[in-house]
Amino acid sequence: MNRKGGKRFLISPLLADIPGLVHGFGMKGCGFRDAGGIGGKTGFRPVTLDQVHSDAVIFFARRPKIRKRGDALVTDRLRLLLAVKTADCLPILLADPEGRVAAAVHCGWRGTASRLAEKTVSALQRKYGCRPSSLRAALGPCIGPRCFEVGEDVRRAFRESGLSLRDFAPRRGHPGKSVLDLAGANRRQLIRAGLKKRNIELVSLCTHCRPEFFSYRRDPEAAGRQINFIGFAVR
Ligand SMILES: [Zn+2]
Repeated sequence: MNRKGGKRFLISPLLADIPGLVHGFGMKGCGFRDAGGIGGKTGFRPVTLDQVHSDAVIFFARRPKIRKRGDALVTDRLRLLLAVKTADCLPILLADPEGRVAAAVHCGWRGTASRLAEKTVSALQRKYGCRPSSLRAALGPCIGPRCFEVGEDVRRAFRESGLSLRDFAPRRGHPGKSVLDLAGANRRQLIRAGLKKRNIELVSLCTHCRPEFFSYRRDPEAAGRQINFIGFAVR
C-alpha cells in the first residue's frame, strides 16, 4: 500500500494497475478535491450513501438527486466516484478490470455479519456479469484485530449467519469479551465468494492505533470520518 506523493490518501498497487481506475483510502483531512481533481479536469462526481450498517447494495447509473440509504455502492459508469466514509469500520474497494465495474463497501461488524461483502460480489455478478475470479479487492484501514473488542452479541450474530468464528480471539482478562479481526473476516468472505487470494490486498493499518486516521472508538465524541473512493475515469 503506497502513500501517493504528498497526497492524503493511500493507494493499493493491486488496484493502481487497472487502467483508468482512480481510488484511495483517505486519511484525516482528505477531501473529494484531493481524490483525483474532483470538480476539476477529471469531472468526477462523488456519490455517497446514508450509511446505516445494513446489507443493502445500491446500483448507480447516475448521480442521484437525493442521497440513498445503504452500505455498498456499485456502478459500471465512468466518472462516478463511489465513496464510503469510515472511522474504524472497514472500507472495501472492488474493481473488475475486464468490465470497468467498481464498488465501494462499508463494513462494520453488522455489515460483516449480514454478509455484505459477499452480497456485493453476487450483485456484481448478477447485474454486470462480473466473474468473481477476476475481481480485485483492497481492504482499507480499519480497527485492528488487537483493538476491536466485541461482546457475545457479535459472536452470536456471526454464528446465526453461519459465518466462521475463526476471526474471533478471547480478550485476555476480560471474560465474555473477544477481539474480532474485521478485515480478516471480510477477506474470508470474499474468498468464499470466489475471489482469488492474490486478488485481495489488505492495508492492515489500525485506525485506533494510528493518529493519521479518525477512530470512533478512540474519540467517540469528536471523531470525523475518512473518505474511501473508487471510480473509472474517462479513457
Ligand atoms: Zn489498534
